[in-house]
Amino acid sequence: MGNLQGKVALVTGGSRGIGAAIVRRLAREGATVAFTYVSSEEPARRIAEAVERAGGRARAYRVDSADPVAVERIVDEVAAEHGRLDFLVSNAGVATLKPVEETTLEDFDRIVATNLRSVFAGARAAARHLRAGGRIITIGSAHDERVPFAGISAYAASKAALVGLTKGLARDLGPRGISVTLVSPGPIDTDMNPASGPLASTVLPMLALPRYGTGDEVAGLVAYLASDESAFVTGVSLAIDGGITA
Ligand code: NDP
Repeated sequence: MGNLQGKVALVTGGSRGIGAAIVRRLAREGATVAFTYVSSEEPARRIAEAVERAGGRARAYRVDSADPVAVERIVDEVAAEHGRLDFLVSNAGVATLKPVEETTLEDFDRIVATNLRSVFAGARAAARHLRAGGRIITIGSAHDERVPFAGISAYAASKAALVGLTKGLARDLGPRGISVTLVSPGPIDTDMNPASGPLASTVLPMLALPRYGTGDEVAGLVAYLASDESAFVTGVSLAIDGGITA
């Protein structure tokens, strides 16, 4: 039996990559997991079915994280459906790899809406439901600290802002026994950044551990942050980045 029995989690962007690994891991620990996706209906359905086959509980919802009203609504809906909400894991994110001259204001707005504004909206709504022991865990990026190559200025800005947001939320919610943490991964082998993709030859020489990480490794850190063992951890950004920021 996992250590999250009876708990309810909402994970944004759980249909693929890191988010899917987090959904599987939290469900394996016993949590009931609601997760969102925006376009991958079939993969989302398969994740939910795989969790159920393994004896867990997961349900997928189509919610566009670029729409903060929709994000607030799903937080309220999941809390109402289960009578509680214990963990909000804001994972959904988008990136572009373009020099600033080619990055449009529309690109910038979409990145900030998905990676930052929706995280704030989700936290605002979750604060209405979380009780002592509750957690807000956000997936940031190693680029919140180091931007070692060109083409990701808007993405890096959206992720760096999460550092301040996490500290501020930790101060707001700490008195209620709710912790708020940021997980900052380095290169993780997903559709966004495949280990065989165009970035690999640039980033591999920058790593202390010269390989891409896995979604399951990030999910392990999220499971720790959701557990009682992390009760005194809040307001921090925890790197899981193969040493790219070392
Ligand atoms: P993927 O592109 O592999 O998966 C993205 C997930 O987010 C999918 O489930 C996708 O849903 C969902 N998503 C994207 N946009 C929206 C939206 N508007 N509304 C709802 N869901 C959305 O990305 P990763 O798994 O690699 O990334 C997950 C998080 O980790 C992101 O925040 C990313 O910035 C961060 N990260 C990733 C790193 C990496 O190297 N991979 C490194 C550092 C941080 P759908 O399937 O429906 O499109």
